[in-house]
Amino acid sequence: MTSTAMLSLTGQMLIAGQPVRGTGKDIRGIDPQSGKPLEPAYRYGDRSHVEDACAAAAEAFPAYRSAPIETRARFLETIAGNLESIGDALVDRAHSETGLPRPRLTGEVGRTAGQLRLFAAVLREGSWNQARIDPAQPDRTPLPRPDIRQRSVPLGPVAVFGASNFPLAFSVAGGDTASALAAGCPVVVKAHDAHPGTSELVGRAIADAVAACGLPAGTFSLLYGFGPELGTDLVTDPRIKAVGFTGSRAGGMALVAAAAGRPEPIPVYAEMSAVNPVFLLGGALASHGGDLGRAFVGSLTLGSGQFCTNPGLVIAVDGPELDSFVAAAAEAVAASTPTVMLTPGIADSFRDGVAALEDEAVLIARGSEGDAPAAPCRAALFATDASTFLASKALQAEVFGAAGVLVRCSDAAEMRQLANGLEGQLTATIHADESDHGPAGELLDVLELKAGRILFNGWPTGVEVGHAMVHGGPFPSTSDSRTTSVGARAIERFLRPVCYQDAPKTLLPSAIADGNPDALWRHVDGQLTKD
Ligand code: NAP
Repeated sequence: MTSTAMLSLTGQMLIAGQPVRGTGKDIRGIDPQSGKPLEPAYRYGDRSHVEDACAAAAEAFPAYRSAPIETRARFLETIAGNLESIGDALVDRAHSETGLPRPRLTGEVGRTAGQLRLFAAVLREGSWNQARIDPAQPDRTPLPRPDIRQRSVPLGPVAVFGASNFPLAFSVAGGDTASALAAGCPVVVKAHDAHPGTSELVGRAIADAVAACGLPAGTFSLLYGFGPELGTDLVTDPRIKAVGFTGSRAGGMALVAAAAGRPEPIPVYAEMSAVNPVFLLGGALASHGGDLGRAFVGSLTLGSGQFCTNPGLVIAVDGPELDSFVAAAAEAVAASTPTVMLTPGIADSFRDGVAALEDEAVLIARGSEGDAPAAPCRAALFATDASTFLASKALQAEVFGAAGVLVRCSDAAEMRQLANGLEGQLTATIHADESDHGPAGELLDVLELKAGRILFNGWPTGVEVGHAMVHGGPFPSTSDSRTTSVGARAIERFLRPVCYQDAPKTLLPSAIADGNPDALWRHVDGQLTKD
C-alpha cells in the first residue's frame, strides 16, 4: 500500500483521463476535528467542463458497451486492485477530510474493492442479461408466432453524486459507479466537497484502470462544482441517461425535478432520508430490555450517527417492560462523549435538528459536552407518545447524526397504527422473542410495504454487500422503490430490456443467439435452462 506522501494531490478534475484545472471558486477539504483547511485547493468546474465530460462519455459509450464482458469485469477488478494498492494513502486522506476513524476507513477500502469485484462476478455469471427466447411457432393457428428474444442493454452515460458519509464506498468508486460501469455505462462523477482529495485519489485510480484496460478515455470523468449549478448542468445534459445520488432529501428531490423537467426525462436513483424505525415487542423487552437499550445506543452513536440506516426511531408499548430499556439507553447516552461529524455544516444541521426535537418531545438523555471537536456531535435521546409523534413533522424528520426518538404506544394496535403512518424507510427492525411472534407477524405485514429491508433482533447500521441485499425503500427513503443501491441487483438500474423480433440469426447478440454461445441461464419458452 502507498502512503499519501508518495501520492501528491494536484487539485485538478479529471476529464476523460486528462487533469483539468477548474475555473470557479476554490474549495478545500476541511479537517472536521480541528476545523483547519487542507491542501491543495480545488477549483469548481463550469458548464464547459460538464460539456467536455459528457461529450467524452457519449463518445466512449459505443465502444465501452461493446467491449467483451471479460474486459469489463477485468476493468472493475483493476479499479479494485488500484484502490487497494493506494489503501494507506486513501485512509490517511479520508481520515483528514472526514474525521472518520482509520479502522472504519480501512474497512471501507475493502468494501469498495469488494463491491467492484462483486459486480465483476455478476457480469461473468450473466443473469443480468435477462436473456429470454420465445421460439417461433410458424404452425400456430390462427396466427403463427414470430421468433421473439429479449436481453438487457445499458442506458448510456450516468451521472453519479458521491455521498458525504461514505467517502469511499458510496462515493467516486462507490456502489453507483461500480454498478453503472458494470452495466456498460460510462460515468461522470460530481465529487462531494467534503472529501475532494480522497475523490481525486480514487478518480485517478479509476482513470488508470481505464487506460490499463484499453478502454475509451471518456468512460470515466470526475468534476468538482456547486450542486445547484454544475450538478444541475450535469443532470440536464442531454447525453446523460440516468443519475445515481446519495444525500439529503432536498438535494435528491432537486435532481429528480431537474431530470423530470428535461425535454427527455431520465431516471434518478436518489437515496435520501430515513429514520429506520425499531419496534421492541414485550417478550424481548421483558427478557433483555437492558441489553437492548445498550445495544440500541451503540447503533445510534456509531460513526456519530452518520449512517443512512441509523436507528433514529424506537417504538414500544409503554409499561414496566420498557423501563429497563429506557434506563440502560439513557445511561449509555449520558455516558457518551462528543464525537466528530463529517463537516461543520453537517454538525450545524445536527444541532438545529436536535433543537427541533427538543421543542416537541421530552429529553431523556444527552451526551456530555466534554472536549468537543470543531464539528461536534452530542448524542441525544427523546421520548413522546404516538399521537404527538404522528401529528409532528419535526419528530418524523430525519436528524442526520446520533439523535433518537422513543415513541411510547398504549398497546399493540396503536403500534401498528403508528407503523402504518410512517413514511417509506430504508430499514425497519423488530425485536421479538418467540412469545412475540403473533404481533411480530402482524407488524411484518405492515412493514413490508414501508421498508426495503426488515431485520429481526439486530440493528440496521451495517449493510452487507451481496446478492440478496436491498438498500432502498419507498419514498422518501429513495426516489424509486423498485431498486437497490447496494448489492448485485443495483446493476438493473442502468439497464433496459430490448426485444428482437424475427431478427436474422447472424445479427442476434450472443446472449440470445442459438446454441447459447455465452453459456447463460436463459428463459426459453418461460423455462430457465442452459440449453
Ligand atoms: P447533500 O446536501 O444532499 O449533497 C449531496 C450532493 O448533492 C452534493 O454533491 C451536493 O453538491 C449535491 N446537491 C445538493 N443539493 C443539490 C441541488 N439542489 N442541486 C444539485 N446538486 C445538489 O448531502 P450531504 O452534503 O451529504 O448533506 C448531508 C445530509 O444528507 C444529511 O443531513 C442527511 O440528511 C443526508 N444524507 C443522507 C444519506 C443517506 O444515505 N440517505 C447519506 C448521507 C447524507 P453541493 O454540496 O455542491 O451542493
